[in-house]
Amino acid sequence: MEDCIFCKIIAGEMESEILYEDEEVIAFKDIEPQAPIHFLIVPKKHIPTLLDIEEGDNELIGHIHQVANQLARQEGIAEDGFRIVSNCNEAGGQIVDHIHYHLLGGRNLQWPPG
Ligand code: AMP
Ligand code: ZN
Repeated sequence: MEDCIFCKIIAGEMESEILYEDEEVIAFKDIEPQAPIHFLIVPKKHIPTLLDIEEGDNELIGHIHQVANQLARQEGIAEDGFRIVSNCNEAGGQIVDHIHYHLLGGRNLQWPPG
């Protein structure tokens, strides 16, 4: 947790381009954007992987989706469409061990992902 870069961003100890913040959640731009719009929605609670989500977190996860919808509309990608991705563990492509939801849009996204 001490070495967690997202906890550092949440604590204001590391710079980021913040789009949204409330008591539970923060959203900031991804430093290596994979689409014209690419940001991360991150719970302030340090949850290492999707597998660590507990029943008590259900409201938090729902809230993340509300924030995602609000930001998709705000960024003008709601109508055209967008994608939310959350990677879990090594084969899932997770690099940062603090759960986060990628919100991608602004171009036609391909399927299946690589
Ligand atoms: P994942 O592979 O799902 O764990 O995604 C981690 C994401 O975090 C990648 O898309 C990185 O580009 C992004 N990232 C890593 N460090 C930072 C940072 N300091 N600020 C913003 N995004 C970051
Ligand atoms: Zn963390």
